[in-house]
Amino acid sequence: MSEGKVWHPYTQMKTAPEPIWIEKGEGAWLYPKSGERILDLISSWWVTVHGHGHPYIAQKIAEQAGKLEQVIFAGFTHTPAQELATQLVALLPGPMASIFYSDNGSTAVEVGLKMALQYWNNSGNPKSKILAFQSAYHGDTFGAMSVSARSVFTAPFNGQLFEVEFLPDPYPENLSKTMERIQELGQEGKTAAFIFEPLVMGAAGMICYEASYLDSLIQLCRQYEILTIADEVMTGFGRTGTLFATEQIQFSPDIICLSKGITGGFLPLGVTAAAGKIYEAFLAEDRMKTFFHGHSYTANPLACVAALASLECFKQENTLLRIQEIEKLHLGFQRRIEGNSFVQQTRVKGSLLAITLQEGKEAPDYLSNWGPVIYSWFIQRGFLMRPLGNVLYLLPPYCITDSELELAYTAIAAFLEHLGLANPEPPLPGPVFG
Ligand code: PMP
Repeated sequence: MSEGKVWHPYTQMKTAPEPIWIEKGEGAWLYPKSGERILDLISSWWVTVHGHGHPYIAQKIAEQAGKLEQVIFAGFTHTPAQELATQLVALLPGPMASIFYSDNGSTAVEVGLKMALQYWNNSGNPKSKILAFQSAYHGDTFGAMSVSARSVFTAPFNGQLFEVEFLPDPYPENLSKTMERIQELGQEGKTAAFIFEPLVMGAAGMICYEASYLDSLIQLCRQYEILTIADEVMTGFGRTGTLFATEQIQFSPDIICLSKGITGGFLPLGVTAAAGKIYEAFLAEDRMKTFFHGHSYTANPLACVAALASLECFKQENTLLRIQEIEKLHLGFQRRIEGNSFVQQTRVKGSLLAITLQEGKEAPDYLSNWGPVIYSWFIQRGFLMRPLGNVLYLLPPYCITDSELELAYTAIAAFLEHLGLANPEPPLPGPVFG
């Protein structure tokens, strides 16, 4: 029997090296079938929160699996889904009233967009325009791709994506023209919603921006009745230093999308939280006002108990305090590499450390396609990092110890030294890394 082909995500199957076969994960470490263990510095695509194989979360999932593994969520409910909704509504900023469950980050975004568009339909004031930032990334399904940057990721599908008005990326110099544009659009009255990644635009290269920038835009959107959707799929669950990035802004959004870290990284789960006015616009005798959306695994009980267990760990293990300590260590390392000629810019925000490598020193843009080269350099030394073009970053699980972080910093310092010594080879052909 020939072996079934496994088609890997974001992977050119012709040129990619053999995938690394992982047998076990523990804490911040991944253990391959053969070879040395690997330090997971990107929380396995930004999902792992308290560490791989956290025993408490594993135990809660096992207990739940013995009771109720799954039940249709239309016409039925269960304690883990109800309890999680209660906790999330209490923890999320602003007047979040309802929790809609789905499966992943892209579906959480799809749901948010559909809720916003149908909100205006149900309110008898249909609006269809959506605003997003130029370099945004919100997922891989069609709606999520539509509100994301047109890029190599979307190129084959651009003709099928719906039209979106892209606002300049949130750099301070763009604030006034962006506000003017929102004002113009607001006066036209056709804009349904503005979707954004609060404080950090992840896949765009860990672009960090100020809470005050976002507050200015949200305030304006409120004034012109444009709904705001915060995509906290990456930023949620502590990444930026607070449980949610939107806690750091004054004006809370109408809709918040969550996924990735919600279950501590154990199981897929998406959540779209909506403010009371959104939820209420769907309440009617008229069946046409129903939100006709749902997935087979909506509110899977195992995923919900994993999320509850992860929230419990945040409390029991004082995780937010640990994130502050990680931030301090990142700041220390930031100072260590200050002035390095290969470092163009660094950013620290909560557990995130991002380093933009200098482009065009030896040859123009020689680093921007270096994703795969840098990836190999680190993986050969036992570190999992997936640079975004010329942006290297750490977004580790919060269980990472000081000495494990020091290993990562030392590796980055060695890499910067290597750049200085080596005559860099031209980049390997291949896609940029997501
Ligand atoms: N939104 C943001 C901000 C993301 O970073 C991602 C994934 N990287 C998504 C949405 C999509 O999430 P998923 O991969 O779970 O569909």
